Amino acid sequence: MRKQIAAANWKMNLTLQEAENLLTKIVSEQFELTENQKVVFAVPTPYLDMAIGKIAGHAKTFVAAQNVYSKKSGAYTGEISVTMLQSLKVDHAIIGHSERREYFGETNQLLAEKLTTCIETDITPIFCCGEALPVREVNQQNSYVTHQLEESLFHLSADQMEKVVIAYEPVWAIGTGKTASSEQAQEMHAYIRNELAKKYGEEVAGRISILYGGSVKAANAKEIFSQPDVDGGLVGGASLIAEEFIAIINALKG
Ligand code: PEP
Repeated sequence: MRKQIAAANWKMNLTLQEAENLLTKIVSEQFELTENQKVVFAVPTPYLDMAIGKIAGHAKTFVAAQNVYSKKSGAYTGEISVTMLQSLKVDHAIIGHSERREYFGETNQLLAEKLTTCIETDITPIFCCGEALPVREVNQQNSYVTHQLEESLFHLSADQMEKVVIAYEPVWAIGTGKTASSEQAQEMHAYIRNELAKKYGEEVAGRISILYGGSVKAANAKEIFSQPDVDGGLVGGASLIAEEFIAIINALKG
């Protein structure tokens, strides 16, 4: 059975003190995670070590970097490497968030290299894909997302692919308060799973978690997560409020 995942993306928010308080509040809540569920906190880079300390002893709870570079070390001022993540015991990383693509020019090709580096070093990548509004308006979301998958993911072997978590995040729904309807989410998730099945076979495709991202909150999480091909969410704004994120964790399928 594939994992059901609630992943928080704090983006570039919170002071260290605020981040510590938020994480303390969330992990001290006695949420019951089944064998099949997990929670991930993608915190700002300077807080990774603090977050690792805070989640210690909490089962099925992980810390993610919001980005990582494709090279393992060297003269790349300002970047962070998988080797650094490993030394901190950080074992997840978001790759290809639409904000990285839009503001930092990350291309499908660069993301393909980042994914390979993550897989080689046992960092679980949470790979983001999804179309912007003009693409959706002309009903080209399927071919657009296929192109992202082909260029960034499909060089991986089936074994490697099984280590990837995918987050479908329609850009028009990120931070806008506009959520895809649960039908729209299910339609795209089923489409992505079918693309994975065509490339890797149904068994592999059936084992890959596909998260939905885009204005998920306590009020809509249960409905969205109840869709058969939606395996949880990547959550921005609502993950900064303890009560909201706890309710989102509790909305995961068993
Ligand atoms: C995100 O940052 O990946 C995201 C989905 O943000 P929000 O939940 O705020 O739309």
